[in-house]
Amino acid sequence: MQRKIRILIVEDEEAIRTGLRDVLVFHGYELDCAADGNEGLDKALSGSFDLILLDIMLPGMDGFEICNRIRSRDREQPIIMLTARSSDEDIIQGLSLGADDYVAKPFSVAQLVLRVQAVLRRSRIAVEMEHQLQLGDGIEIDSRNLSGRRGEQALSFTRREVEILQYLKANSERPVSREELLNRVWGYAKNLQLETRTVDIHIAKLRRKIEPDPAQPRYLLTVRGAGYRLLTE
Ligand code: CA
Repeated sequence: MQRKIRILIVEDEEAIRTGLRDVLVFHGYELDCAADGNEGLDKALSGSFDLILLDIMLPGMDGFEICNRIRSRDREQPIIMLTARSSDEDIIQGLSLGADDYVAKPFSVAQLVLRVQAVLRRSRIAVEMEHQLQLGDGIEIDSRNLSGRRGEQALSFTRREVEILQYLKANSERPVSREELLNRVWGYAKNLQLETRTVDIHIAKLRRKIEPDPAQPRYLLTVRGAGYRLLTE
């Protein structure tokens, strides 16, 4: 039998911690909990969790510091921050420290479970992908350290940009729509209405990095009415 997916909850408020645990156990996950920052960091660094749900305001050590320390050891560990709804700054800081996503408190159970499933799906896709991504024009990208090169020229990418390239490469036999990219790479359900323009902005940034002439793409193509397609040769 396949082992259960293991999730760590780091949250000092007992009601939230218990509520989260019960919901996720109900959905078939195996849970462990920590009620303060130091215990949370110790458990998180054991490396035995498929996902960590991390509160920000914690006794001992806050969630930002924990996230930072996990990331300095392990770039791949999936992390979802639990933020206060009103605080855009918390969200931005959490994501810039490398959290994969966030859920704003108070959250709906349905939304939380969707985010958990999306982050786990993305991390599985990432594990299944090869770390080396080769494109035409001698471009090589290493998804582990988000760096690459074209001949002598060093390139650097964001995690999201590499995920887009990986997803397009895995589906290179067909164009991929903006909506599909939002769903599968960002992991957002359609009803969250993240604008498809977000995808276009990322594609434009990627073209500036990988295309010899970004105005005349040779690898990252627009397929009219269908989306984007990556040519790997
Ligand atoms: Ca708290």
